[in-house]
Amino acid sequence: MFPYLKYSETEVGNYISGVTPEMVVASLGKARHDWFDLLNLISPAAYPFRNTMRDAAQIARRRYYGKTVSIYAPLYIGNTCVNSCRYCDFSRQHTGTVRRNLTLDEIRTEAEAVRRTGIDSLLVVAGEDPKVNTVAHLAEVGRLLKPMFSNLSLEVAPQADDGYRELFTAGYEGLTCFQETYDQALYREMHPAGPKADYDWRLNTQLRAGRAGFRVLGCAFLLGLGPWRREAASLAAHAFYLMKECYEAKVPFAFPRICRVDGGFVPPCDVDEGDLEQMMLAFRIVFPQCCMTVSTREAPAFRDRIVLTAADNMSAGSRVTPGGYAVLEREGACPHAPPRRLGTAALPSDVAQFTLSDCRPPAEVFAAIRANGQEIVFKNWDNRI
Ligand code: SF4
Repeated sequence: MFPYLKYSETEVGNYISGVTPEMVVASLGKARHDWFDLLNLISPAAYPFRNTMRDAAQIARRRYYGKTVSIYAPLYIGNTCVNSCRYCDFSRQHTGTVRRNLTLDEIRTEAEAVRRTGIDSLLVVAGEDPKVNTVAHLAEVGRLLKPMFSNLSLEVAPQADDGYRELFTAGYEGLTCFQETYDQALYREMHPAGPKADYDWRLNTQLRAGRAGFRVLGCAFLLGLGPWRREAASLAAHAFYLMKECYEAKVPFAFPRICRVDGGFVPPCDVDEGDLEQMMLAFRIVFPQCCMTVSTREAPAFRDRIVLTAADNMSAGSRVTPGGYAVLEREGACPHAPPRRLGTAALPSDVAQFTLSDCRPPAEVFAAIRANGQEIVFKNWDNRI
């Protein structure tokens, strides 16, 4: 569980399994919600109330986000990694993965390709490789990209306080760090070696970034590692904690679900689409103001549906291979490899943790959003400086 929580895993589990339909109805009827409401709404007792939860979530979503959907793109600048995460094809044990770190020129080429789609918000992603992705290098990347995008965020190895101050100055405003699992024993099992084995260092990433000035502190766990209801309870506790400690920042959520692939990692805990929807609806009701991203790991139909009720942010046309937007094509390689799903042949460029389910080009994603009566937002704020 989230370690600053005063309840044990057993107490939280017992509470969730003891929730009654009356408790769910009471939580749905409240104007302001707390952590116990979240537990009520993610409980098995709330599952039959999903229709009512959809209505409540949609009202909450409309109040803060209207009929808009924000769009961003991830830009993978490198996939070398010194960690050994058991669920990830980027881990150092995976010799079959094609490794690459883009040069600054290649990063610019990729960014220009993203920009041509109209997308104005970029998430810079890299594996954990302290010799390559130093703070100085990431800052240089930030200074290169900042003039091209109105919103720049990072999903890279956790950094120290002074590192975050330098990165914030270079132009990054947001950060995403998945805790993967809040269960410390399971965390040790899934991260046997490398810097990521340090649970506390990762847990306090958002806190360090927030104190350095970052205004967006994204949180998530990896769906499929531990029992999802307990992980969701920890995620909510983590968010409440950050909202208090870093009250000037926003705390957005993501719900990345492990994709099953042939020969790949088998997630110990099942999370189906119904579970995922219940969880996202519950978070929208309890945290109506918080940004919520739906992953490209989910199927197009689910993504198009969940942005009507819960999520307000999604990526479009994502490529999870460094060079996937333009550089590989320029070199004659095919960046548009079909995703490796269960029952299909593996491709050398496939990576299990990040296998995409929604492979539609951006224009198709935009058309689907508009067909649902929603408006696309490429830019939702301006820097005063
Ligand atoms: S999950 Fe991240 S840190 Fe772990 S092996 Fe993959 S890229 Fe590296």
